[in-house]
Amino acid sequence: MTTSPLIGVLALQGDVKEHEVALEAVGARTIRVRSAAGLSGISGLVIPGGESTTMSNLAIRANLFEPLRAASSAGLPMYGSCAGMIMLADRVTDARPDQQTIGGLDVTVRRNAFGRQVDSFEIDLDVPAVGTTPFKAVFIRAPLVESTGPDVEVLSILRRGGAAGTIVAVRQGVRLATSFHPELTGDTRIHDLFVQIVRQHS
Ligand code: GLN
Repeated sequence: MTTSPLIGVLALQGDVKEHEVALEAVGARTIRVRSAAGLSGISGLVIPGGESTTMSNLAIRANLFEPLRAASSAGLPMYGSCAGMIMLADRVTDARPDQQTIGGLDVTVRRNAFGRQVDSFEIDLDVPAVGTTPFKAVFIRAPLVESTGPDVEVLSILRRGGAAGTIVAVRQGVRLATSFHPELTGDTRIHDLFVQIVRQHS
């Protein structure tokens, strides 16, 4: 395959531009995906942070859930940050009853799990899969992973604070998800990992 894979960024809502910048910094080409047609020709898909109920509503309106689920079943690598993680989860606690997800990631996530007092925070994380230097992670009304299925690899766990022990980054085959927003901090190692997954898969 080409050395510069074409990666779609789901552009219904959320911080699309920041993901494009991070992906391009690690050598990928990007394209915005707003319709089923936009899924053809891409080698991976990023689902940005934003607001997952709004994203779900917009995806329903655009008839995108079935094509997205079909692409996922066919093995298209997907990476979701924050709301994007919720979109990839098989199970969501505290979702609105009509909220849908693409699924494919065998996890249960809880929305807005860190409570009002700590709506957003920044913390140094250990993410051994991307190296030994701590990853400065930004959490904004973030979901947490409550439970994982047997095929899910835990990539990072909070070590400090009231939520210590919480899983915040996971991988299941070609699916990657983080509770936090690596696209906001200029550290491109998570995007680099995703692009490596895409390259290995193509
Ligand atoms: N709380 C948001 C949701 O439920 C996610 C927040 C984010 O992506 N920063 O979708």
